[in-house]
Amino acid sequence: MKTVYLDQAAGSFPKAPGVSAAVAGLLEHGGGNINRSSYALSTGTGLQVMAVREELAAFFGCSACEELIFTPGATQSVNLVLRGLLRPGDHLIISGMEHNAVYRTAHALTGAGIALSVAPCDGTGALDLDALDRLFRPETRLVMLTHASNVCGTILDIPGAARLCRRRGVPLAVDAAQSAGHIPVRLDELGADAVCFPGHKGLLGPQGIGGAALSPRLARAMTPLITGGTGSSSDSPEMPAELPDRFEAGTGNLPGILGLGAALSYLRSAGLDRLRAHEVALTGRFLSALRGCPHIRVPGPPRPEDRVGVISVDFLRRDNAEAAADLEERYGILTRCGLHCAPLAHRTLGTFPRGTVRFSLGPFTAPEEVDAAAQAVLALA
Ligand code: PMP
Repeated sequence: MKTVYLDQAAGSFPKAPGVSAAVAGLLEHGGGNINRSSYALSTGTGLQVMAVREELAAFFGCSACEELIFTPGATQSVNLVLRGLLRPGDHLIISGMEHNAVYRTAHALTGAGIALSVAPCDGTGALDLDALDRLFRPETRLVMLTHASNVCGTILDIPGAARLCRRRGVPLAVDAAQSAGHIPVRLDELGADAVCFPGHKGLLGPQGIGGAALSPRLARAMTPLITGGTGSSSDSPEMPAELPDRFEAGTGNLPGILGLGAALSYLRSAGLDRLRAHEVALTGRFLSALRGCPHIRVPGPPRPEDRVGVISVDFLRRDNAEAAADLEERYGILTRCGLHCAPLAHRTLGTFPRGTVRFSLGPFTAPEEVDAAAQAVLALA
């Protein structure tokens, strides 16, 4: 039986062409480390890493390439921003569609004297801007919102939230774990101060590499999450003030960075617009095939244009975990069931605590695979 991988929201597979060669190339020929030693092997790899930083900074609309910080992934970037910025007495607003990367980190900070408010979203996962507007306080220090839901794909109105934030001079941080590589994610266009992104999902790169794109004002206000050697200002016991070194202590994931660089080259040559058109077409095809079945619920916006390629199905007459197991055993279709590390989102969508079966699509998903998944859902419903 052929396997159909529809768990792209957990991690893209296959990776973009060129990624594994770039990872292997660094391991086989790249030398030991960068930014420490001055021989050509080290500086050559350093230049390659710099080139990827420049590409990513341009991709995410940074005003300077130093404002693109490499991290191991979105979770680490969220922690970098929240723990780097917030201090006792501050107030943080998040949305009712957050992943635990944001929710658990925010919750942990409430134990350190930071007040937390959750901006409600409607039953499709869309942000209620009026309700968000009412949550601001004089001590609100940051708003952090997911760009697209990892449960049902809903794209949140980040520019709308940014307008509210700008009116009050409050920075906005975006969890772009499910949007980067799918829809445009640029600091300048969104009006955001931070974008936290993983390399291993929509960007089609390897696991263990991601980053944070920061505005100059946010970068200036943040303290480092991790301290240690940077290969710069080594005479000082303090972390250097310069970016990106201030937030990049220790040896980075060099194979991951070069792999991500190769993925980015692929995305550029394939064209984000073309990939997005494919995603919208397949999402629409899946949603249409499921429409009308009385034995399932499909939370999220009805129009595929309002989502990334993430579709959750709630089986009303059977257990969702059993349905996911049957999808794999009988049809070879790989999905993810449960709460998807997003209990807040499931509460918002009315699917807590039972969760859903999540299907997530990627640029290499074929229409026939979507048809097979839809038919399997209808047969199991
Ligand atoms: N936020 C969202 C919305 C996600 O879907 C995920 C991954 N499931 C994360 C954050 C965490 O990403 P990472 O595993 O790269 O740290």
